[in-house]
Amino acid sequence: MAGFSSIIGHEQIKKHLQNAISMDKISHAYIFHGPDQSGKMALAKSFAMALQCQQHGTEGCMECLSCRQVLSGAHPDVIYLQHEKPNTISVEDIRKQVNGTVGMKPYASHYKIYIIDEAEKMNQQAQNALLKTIEEPPAYAVIMLLTNNAGTFLPTIISRCITLDLKVVPDGKIRTFLMEKYQIPDYKADICTAFAQGNVGKAIQLAESEDFNEIKNASLQLLKRIKEIELYELMEAVKQISEYKLEINDYFDIMMIWYRDVIFYKATSDVNRLIFKDEVYNIKKQASKSSYEGIENIIKALEKAKRRLNANVNFDLTMELLLLTIKEN
Ligand SMILES: [Zn+2]
Repeated sequence: MAGFSSIIGHEQIKKHLQNAISMDKISHAYIFHGPDQSGKMALAKSFAMALQCQQHGTEGCMECLSCRQVLSGAHPDVIYLQHEKPNTISVEDIRKQVNGTVGMKPYASHYKIYIIDEAEKMNQQAQNALLKTIEEPPAYAVIMLLTNNAGTFLPTIISRCITLDLKVVPDGKIRTFLMEKYQIPDYKADICTAFAQGNVGKAIQLAESEDFNEIKNASLQLLKRIKEIELYELMEAVKQISEYKLEINDYFDIMMIWYRDVIFYKATSDVNRLIFKDEVYNIKKQASKSSYEGIENIIKALEKAKRRLNANVNFDLTMELLLLTIKEN
């Protein structure tokens, strides 16, 4: 993480925040609202760095003491709220770390900045406590609430904050970014991008993940030979999949993308827009062997199996049924 210029997408939000700095119209409270890993923390930190920078630009210089402290997470006037209980931010957390310290002027900078990540975890009492500070903040205080669900906030909180909604980032941007920054080949960038669905953090995680490659290879290997394997081998296949139980949603997504590629190729004969470009041979083969109806049945079965597993239906049974459906269609 290093400043606004290193963040992919979110152009409007960056512009809004940088305009606020240049016009000296900083609000006392912001809500950064968007899915997990969509870039909320990167935006909040970049904003904090720019606000505290000793060069007073609209972007942190990344060289002054203040910027270096923000980058290393050790700036005395950029405070990250900690909470002891993993699923709750309690009223004590807010009282102790925000209300109890906000009256003390910043040590070394213009602003005293509070970053509250996973702010949806504040219970009602915590929100009411925070409201006290947001209603009458000292001139130097800036509070940033980061959340994947602003619907949990009291209307009184929302009305006093500037809400910044993070939009998904266009695929083309993510793809180019992954190829340039992580030096991965185009077909891999395509796969990670298709998976991430506009979420840059997720795309980066996939690009860097060895596990993801392993799951992808295991999943594709099975799909390529599933028509040929004998019924009695299915249980063995289920056992192999159960090694990836924790990442089963990724496993499903890979299968889903595979069959979408098959159906797309069958309909268009266009290889350029396939996600699994390095598997063209096998995709062609599968497309010639399967009917549209068959592939659609498989895609439906995949969706159904995914729902079942998320509802805690028996793993082996669900997977066995799924593999049977795939084999027969
Ligand atoms: Zn600086």
